[in-house]
Amino acid sequence: MKSTRSLSRASQFLKSIFILASFLFSIQTAHADLNLDRLSDEDIKRAENLIATLAPLIKERDAKENLATLTFPELYAPLNQEDQEFLRSFQNLDAAEAGIKIPYRGIATGQEDLAVIKGQKIKMEGKEQDLPPQFLPNDVYEKYLRMMEEMQKDLGKQLYIESGYRSSAYQLYLFIFYLKNHDYSIRETARYVTLPGYSEHGAPKHQAIDFINIDGISGETNPADFENLDEYKWLLQNAEKFGFVLSYPKNDARLTFEPWHWRCDASD
Ligand SMILES: [Zn+2]
Repeated sequence: MKSTRSLSRASQFLKSIFILASFLFSIQTAHADLNLDRLSDEDIKRAENLIATLAPLIKERDAKENLATLTFPELYAPLNQEDQEFLRSFQNLDAAEAGIKIPYRGIATGQEDLAVIKGQKIKMEGKEQDLPPQFLPNDVYEKYLRMMEEMQKDLGKQLYIESGYRSSAYQLYLFIFYLKNHDYSIRETARYVTLPGYSEHGAPKHQAIDFINIDGISGETNPADFENLDEYKWLLQNAEKFGFVLSYPKNDARLTFEPWHWRCDASD
């Protein structure tokens, strides 16, 4: 009798431990199991809601022209706890599982010492247009300037910076923002927008520049148009001397060809 009672007490104790453990586990993994092929309907609503909640912050930073240096604390600040956990589940995604094959480059905090590049002008259909301010690590900007001086001498024209540095927090926002363009598939989105830590735009030691030419030909236009530019052919011949390499070359089955995207690796 006595032994039966203590046995049932022990089993009740084990049962409550089990309930507690599964409760704690469920908190930890509340949103950890994002469906990589397509978000659940519930998670799609969460993602839409997240983007809507962040819209005023993004708009404000965009108007101040410092969206590219957004920090993680600034990105999380407008969110309630549930949205923060949801956002964190994207931040903690396993990149390899999501199909990302490019190397990890590290986290860009948004607080690095950066050159601010203003006053770049191009001509779209003959009409002069200002490019929005861009950010680059100082040494990369200096190398870019030296390279453009040489291109100007050789070709009588140069390339401009369409996209330079962006922080990992902004990269995380962009990833979630662009899910809607890829039917809320994480794997599909990751083919076009990478996860924080994997972008060469947020990697001061491996900083990439997306170039645009004077006529507005860039990664936003047809890739073949950029490929046909004399400026691109000049880069193929000369960029290496200035420390720049083409990250995503043509005819690499694993990568999407990006003739406008050139990387500058730190020499140390
Ligand atoms: Zn790029």
